[in-house]
Amino acid sequence: MFQLIRTLILLLIVVLVIRRIAKIGLSLWAGFAAAKTRPSASSEQADIGSQPNAMSLVLDPVCGTYVGIDASLKRIVNGKVIHFCSPECRDQYAA
Ligand SMILES: [Zn+2]
Repeated sequence: MFQLIRTLILLLIVVLVIRRIAKIGLSLWAGFAAAKTRPSASSEQADIGSQPNAMSLVLDPVCGTYVGIDASLKRIVNGKVIHFCSPECRDQYAA
């Protein structure tokens, strides 16, 4: 009877240890997979490719200044988006 209990406890310990190892292995694998996908050349190139797009400059037709597309004032004229550096330029274009 004692031996059965001892065997059961041993089995439990073994199962617990295996589960712990599996958990560590899984987290290690997940970390490895994340580290592998993040600095990959293709994703980095995609980042570089998308960044100038977000930071791209547009010409203000009134004063001829290039403005960041995010910072510019936008106005839709005849279905085209016109970008301005300032409200003054925007008002001048409308006039
Ligand atoms: Zn301007």
